[in-house]
Amino acid sequence: MSSRNASSRSRESLAVRGGRARGRAARGIRALAVPWVMAVAVSGHSTAAAEGAGEAGLDPGLPRPAGVAGFEPRYAGGTAEFPRIEFEAGLVSINDRCPPCGRKLGLKMPPIHVNGRPVGFCCAPCPPQFRESPESQLEALDIHLPCAVDPSTEAVLRPDHRSIVNDEIFFFSSTALKAEFDAAPHRFGIVLTDPLSRERFRVTDASPRATLDGRTVYFASAETARRAEAPGEGQSGLSADLDR
Ligand SMILES: [Zn+2]
Repeated sequence: MSSRNASSRSRESLAVRGGRARGRAARGIRALAVPWVMAVAVSGHSTAAAEGAGEAGLDPGLPRPAGVAGFEPRYAGGTAEFPRIEFEAGLVSINDRCPPCGRKLGLKMPPIHVNGRPVGFCCAPCPPQFRESPESQLEALDIHLPCAVDPSTEAVLRPDHRSIVNDEIFFFSSTALKAEFDAAPHRFGIVLTDPLSRERFRVTDASPRATLDGRTVYFASAETARRAEAPGEGQSGLSADLDR
C-alpha cells in the first residue's frame, strides 16, 4: 500500500470545515453523514477522522454496494489484465487500475465519482488513500477531465480547484468557477448518488438537501431526506444499506 501521503494542504482542504451543525435536522444529518465525513477526512491521522470514527462506530473501510440501485457492475473495456468497470449503464470507470496501488479493479468496490465519472478500486483500504491525494493519483494514471462547470475547459487537478458534494469529488478549470459551483452546486446539472438509496439522480433546485458543517448534502427524494433527518433512523437506514 502506498504511503505516498496527502500533503497537509490536501488534508486541510478535504477536512470538514466550519462550525457545528445546528438544530435537530442537522443533528440527524450529522449522524447519517458520518460515513462520508470519515471518507472525506479519513487519513487515519486527522482529528476529523478520529472524531467521525468515534461518533459513528463504523469502520471507514466498510463495504458499500458497488453499483447504483438496479445495476450490477461488470467488466467492460480496458485489457484482460486491467479491465475497466461499467458501474451503471453506459458509465465506465475512467481508470483501468486502482489509483493508489495499481492493482486490477474489484467489481465489489464502490466507485468514487470524480466530475460525475466513476473511479474504481481494488479493495477497501484504497478509496481512503485516493481521497487523501486524488490529484497526484489521477495524474499518475494520465487522467484528464473536463471542468465540472465548463466542460469546454480542462479541470485543473489541484486541491484548490477541488470541491466535495455528498461524497463525490469535483474539479474545475479555475478557482472562480469553483467558487460559483460551491455557492449553489444544484445549479450545474450534476448527478450524485443518494446516500441512503444509492440511486443516481440529477440534482436540481428542487432536490431535498441539508447542510452539514457548511457542506450541502443532497438527496434523491423527500423520502430518503426524511429518513436521513429522523433521529436514529438515518443511521440505521444507512447501516441496513451498508450491510446489503
Ligand atoms: Zn488498490
